[in-house]
Amino acid sequence: MNRSDIKSMLPDELEAALVEMGEPRFRAGQIFTWLMRGVTDFSSMTNIGKSLQKKLDERYYITSPEILRKQVSEEDGTIKYLWKLMDGSAVESVLMHYKHGSTVCVSSQVGCRMGCAFCASAQGGWVRNLSSSEILDQVLFTEKDSGTRVSNIVMMGIGEPLDNFDNVIRFIELVTHPDGINIGMRHISLSTCGLPEKIDKLGDYNLQLTLSLSLHAPDDETRLGLMPVNRRYPTQEVLDACTRYYEKTGRRISIEYALIDGVNDSNEQAEMLARIALSLCAHINLIPLNNVDGSPLRPSRRLKQFVSLLKEKGANVTVRRRLGGDIEAACGQLRKKASG
Ligand code: SAH
Repeated sequence: MNRSDIKSMLPDELEAALVEMGEPRFRAGQIFTWLMRGVTDFSSMTNIGKSLQKKLDERYYITSPEILRKQVSEEDGTIKYLWKLMDGSAVESVLMHYKHGSTVCVSSQVGCRMGCAFCASAQGGWVRNLSSSEILDQVLFTEKDSGTRVSNIVMMGIGEPLDNFDNVIRFIELVTHPDGINIGMRHISLSTCGLPEKIDKLGDYNLQLTLSLSLHAPDDETRLGLMPVNRRYPTQEVLDACTRYYEKTGRRISIEYALIDGVNDSNEQAEMLARIALSLCAHINLIPLNNVDGSPLRPSRRLKQFVSLLKEKGANVTVRRRLGGDIEAACGQLRKKASG
């Protein structure tokens, strides 16, 4: 019999499965609690009895990633983990410390098929989607290894979360579950390159998370040169989906914009960006571009002027702090590494 992935199951699904196995319902809660603590085998679930442990082991497996590499930043204590998954694939996640708590940046896919010109994750191509348990494990095992209680999650690691929609939604349900690690929905950000149908679908769930749109250019011509996805979905279609999202959920969108020398950093582009942000009631998060091997794109030298111009036009803007610079843990620098 092929065993299934127990950590991707929600408590009510666990309950139904246990009832079917002739077990009492309350066992589901006990098992869920163990799983959310990051146990790696059924024999560690000491309060459920040996015979149930054995029955579960026959039907299910528990995902548990290995740490292939761990790098700690000397500058700010940021930790970058390279995890080896059960099939040998590898993904990265990053733990960052802020005054208001600790944030984990998780990956949602092994590789990425979006092909953005400035992003290292695109370089190795796409291999597969992560299961919801594999996304969750990045949080559980980061907490376990670092001894840090995670309070915020950003889905800004490797992969396009909306291209792995169902598993990402399930991950969000698991990680926010009150009987599990119980992260507040408002403490989760999901970043997307902009897939309008999926943004609409996400809006239907009416979650109170923060949706970040990786815009990076205010016009089709520039965006096409940076983000191949713009061929399929022109900028205006993406922005329209964001407007609908805001209207449905009441949650302000955050626009991510990596400033690239001579590409998207002109005064005219700042004005266009400000207009877009104002019409969407969105917040702009400017990201100083991080250099990526093999890419000719360089960070803009006009960050200050760009920020002032946006502010002058009335836009709400912040510049993202760069953490873990000495360990290449910053935005866009995560990539699939051959597993060891
Ligand atoms: N696929 C999702 C999430 C992953 S990337 C998305 O596109 O949003 C997380 C953020 O880092 C995105 O805004 C992405 O565009 C940005 N990013 C990628 N490479 C970067 C780089 N070299 N410098 C700065 N930001 C980068």
